[in-house]
Amino acid sequence: MRPEILFPLFASATKLDGVGPKTAPLYEKLGVSRVVDALFLPPSGVIDRRLRDSVQGAAEGATVTVRVTVGRHSVPGRRGAPYRITVNDGVLDFVLVFFHAHPEYLMRILPAGEVRIVSGKIEIYDGVAQMPHPDMIVNPEEDDAPDGFEPVYPATAGLNQKAIAKALRSALSKAPDLPEWQDAAWLEKQGWPAWDEAVRALHAPQSAGDIEADAPSRQRLAYDELLSHQLALALVRARRRRAKGRITQGDGTMRQRVIAALPFDLTGAQKRAAGEIYDDMADEQRMLRLLQGDVGAGKTLVALLAMLNAVESGGQAALMAPTEILARQHFAGLEPLCETAGIRLTLLTGRSKGAVRQDRLADIAAGAVHIVVGTHALFQSDVTFHDLRLAVVDEQHRFGVNQRNELAEKGAGTDILVMSATPIPRTLALAGYGDMDISVLDEKPPGRKPIETRMISLARYDQVVESLRAAIAKGARAYWICPLVEESDVVDLAAAEDRARALRRSLGEDAVALTHGRLKPAEKDAAMAAFKTGQVKVLVATTVVEVGVDVPEATIMVIEHAERFGLAQLHQLRGRVGRGGGASSCVLLYQGPLGETAAARLAVLRETEDGFRIAEEDLKLRGAGDLLGVRQAGLPKMRLADLAKHGNLLEVARDDARLIVSQDAELRTGRGEALRVLLYLMGRDDSIRYLGAA
Ligand code: ADP
Ligand code: MG
Repeated sequence: MRPEILFPLFASATKLDGVGPKTAPLYEKLGVSRVVDALFLPPSGVIDRRLRDSVQGAAEGATVTVRVTVGRHSVPGRRGAPYRITVNDGVLDFVLVFFHAHPEYLMRILPAGEVRIVSGKIEIYDGVAQMPHPDMIVNPEEDDAPDGFEPVYPATAGLNQKAIAKALRSALSKAPDLPEWQDAAWLEKQGWPAWDEAVRALHAPQSAGDIEADAPSRQRLAYDELLSHQLALALVRARRRRAKGRITQGDGTMRQRVIAALPFDLTGAQKRAAGEIYDDMADEQRMLRLLQGDVGAGKTLVALLAMLNAVESGGQAALMAPTEILARQHFAGLEPLCETAGIRLTLLTGRSKGAVRQDRLADIAAGAVHIVVGTHALFQSDVTFHDLRLAVVDEQHRFGVNQRNELAEKGAGTDILVMSATPIPRTLALAGYGDMDISVLDEKPPGRKPIETRMISLARYDQVVESLRAAIAKGARAYWICPLVEESDVVDLAAAEDRARALRRSLGEDAVALTHGRLKPAEKDAAMAAFKTGQVKVLVATTVVEVGVDVPEATIMVIEHAERFGLAQLHQLRGRVGRGGGASSCVLLYQGPLGETAAARLAVLRETEDGFRIAEEDLKLRGAGDLLGVRQAGLPKMRLADLAKHGNLLEVARDDARLIVSQDAELRTGRGEALRVLLYLMGRDDSIRYLGAA
């Protein structure tokens, strides 16, 4: 139950001054539906409205607040010319400028001879300072003059800054004194204020620096957010660790047979990761480990070795893939190796039906098959295992945590290995996967040829198609990816269909196949199969080209409107080529002109094929919120913490959280009770349920 002290903060945003049924939806757009959301809405900037002596020396474009004596009004002589009022700030004359003015109104608010305080942007025109349309005109005898720093909030149509500021003032007035949940010594060492003071500094800044990422108040709030998140993960982790696992330690015979049969050696990274996994499996606690590695890094093989370890110990293993195509691909790849190992493998997907399905289910239940590869179909209720010791989940972000756990529930104390091909920077991995242990395959199998990556303007589309035609004539196969036009697959689809039609006209009717999310599974498979066998040379696709799809003969990747994709996503798409022996290329077709950041981002791709480096660069260039790979990886959205800037705090938060849980698993000490308040404040009510539950 949410503590009473937080009730006012969790009241509807309509309790805020100036927020009513009409404006509430606008606040909703800013992510503000309750009072607490307003407090956690960070300003996007600060305007310095401190009263100055004069506009003299003000930089062009700077906002200036000065006390002036109003002088002459110049009514425009011709239509369209501005209305001008000369004022004097005691040091010099400057001009207030109004377009489309109402003279009577201006005469009333700026009567000649009177003193007013004006605040607005300064421009220089013909050597004379001007203030076009001041933001504020105040009669100091009647109203409070602006003085100090004013936060500016993200804009949304229909809401002006004044209204938001008013709502926030009332939100601040509702902020209660909360018990301190941070360690006192740590707070002092960091020089961080108490929570309510920090929130006040954010919305009533005393300097422009107060809202910066490195301001003490901002850091404190960011740390609160990070700690609550890490604490929630640590509680989940602790609960899982309390549940007993099993000791799985095979004799290695099957693994040796498979490794001996491979035409290559394991990479150092594969050996290391496998070792970490064996250690976890041999431990009596349950394993939850993430195996992270770029596309093609050889994760599947590591997973197979782990599964063989389970089978050697007399158990079974399951490998769950997010799509039918991927499941089939895994099955086809693993089958010969399982034969070598002398064990049985079976496939279970949504398309396994009738008697075939019944037979497979019976074999799984009897323990007659050792490894099961499948899709979501794996955790349906009629699937029972004889003894599931290890569950492997591929492309984990496509599954929810619950699905992962449901699969593991099919065994007793089942170990879990999760695989992800989305390279994310270490800091982000901590944010998203703080409850897991992590192994990284940071070394590619040898012999991969580099992919030549080029940026070409869409204006040169014809040339690109010409080169494509020449390449196809020599036997090449190419992917052509059409972008997300909008968040609507209807529009995407239309764009992809247009492109397929155009390419068919240029390259021949039979040379091009189209695949997209709206096709029936069988149709998708047919398009993929035609491409795989070489029947068609070009596969036009929306971004559904499944992560992990393997067509070694494809050597060309064209990505249209590359500027609209996240770097991580581009990197993954590019990873579809360069899988066979042929030299491969990737064409980033962009719509010019490119902005500076966009150009820099695409250039990173040209420079490196290291997915982790690319992810780090993307994080730096765009910040965490925008990272497509991040959203893909299912990372939480932070409101006050900026993972690009507060990454160092994230590691501290993780250690802090694990320490708290190891010392006060029930959150019963004084600090523990305060930490419960923090968890509720941050909307992590879920994790409270884990307290004490075995
Ligand atoms: P991932 O699942 O990480 O995308 P895969 O496991 O599918 O990568 O491996 C990609 C390809 O590389 C497969 O054809 C696999 O047989 C091969 N491979 C895996 N490990 C090695 C290695 N150590 N040396 C050479 N090739 C390897
Ligand atoms: Mg794979």
